[in-house]
Amino acid sequence: MLKYLKLPTRKVIEMFNMKVVQPARLDPETKFKFRCHKGIKCFTKCCSNIDIMLTPYDILRMKNRLKMSSEEFLEKHTFSKIDEKSSHPYAYLKMSRDEKRSCPFLVVPDGCTIYTDRPVSCRYYPVGQATLKKNMGEGIVHEEFYFFVKEPHCLGYEENTEWTVESWRKDQESSLYDEMNREWKSVLMRRDIPGGKSVLDPKKQTQFYMSSYDLDKFKRYVFESKFLDIFDIDKDEIEKIRTDEVALMKLGFKYLKYLMMMEEALKVKPEVVKAKKAKE
Ligand code: SF4
Ligand code: SF4
Repeated sequence: MLKYLKLPTRKVIEMFNMKVVQPARLDPETKFKFRCHKGIKCFTKCCSNIDIMLTPYDILRMKNRLKMSSEEFLEKHTFSKIDEKSSHPYAYLKMSRDEKRSCPFLVVPDGCTIYTDRPVSCRYYPVGQATLKKNMGEGIVHEEFYFFVKEPHCLGYEENTEWTVESWRKDQESSLYDEMNREWKSVLMRRDIPGGKSVLDPKKQTQFYMSSYDLDKFKRYVFESKFLDIFDIDKDEIEKIRTDEVALMKLGFKYLKYLMMMEEALKVKPEVVKAKKAKE
């Protein structure tokens, strides 16, 4: 059933108790036996006292499941934390204030009340995923890899259902979530921005947060500010983002890349560039 994040390795190491992270690096064909089900003694034990960093697609699915706006969801169910190394602001799921710090979506003994829309880190568990940034000489590549998390309370490994890492990812729909979040994840690996700055200023952090997580606010920003006067966006894409939240989320990722001065995912209109140059 549960937790954990797919984050850069360093982060994973910081967040996991190293004793529960198995040191072997897994590939998609690695086999393992695991089964999580309602009848297992440890059922729901892994839904408390955890830190879950949310991805943009997690929030899209959860807020729709709960019939909330992204603003309401963020306000009620998340808190933000600035990553010390990158200065990126990330959203985390707010745990209940009970003794166990239980997940707010956990109902004992039934389990997860948002199961079909649970976050990707809950889907991966007990597999962990991390991304490494490698310079292969022809530019930076991001390499994903997997590892097992074995916590003493989790009895799922004693069951007999056989998986490969890949068949587990498909079964749990982690692969769909990875696909949805791929562009966003590539931004997480960006630890500095050109011009020697290593820390995002508060304005950029606010924009980073909005374009990652707050779809409603980002939509207003696109349609009610000068956004469409500045950026060259295809008419069909503009129409699509009026009704298609995934398309809107992906435009948010392009804007995020623009903010982080990564590849030219969003083009500024030539007349805007010209006008800016004329002023200089
Ligand atoms: S979202 Fe669901 S699966 Fe994930 S920790 Fe909460 S109750 Fe458990
Ligand atoms: S088998 Fe593991 S993942 Fe499933 S409920 Fe038990 S502790 Fe959680």
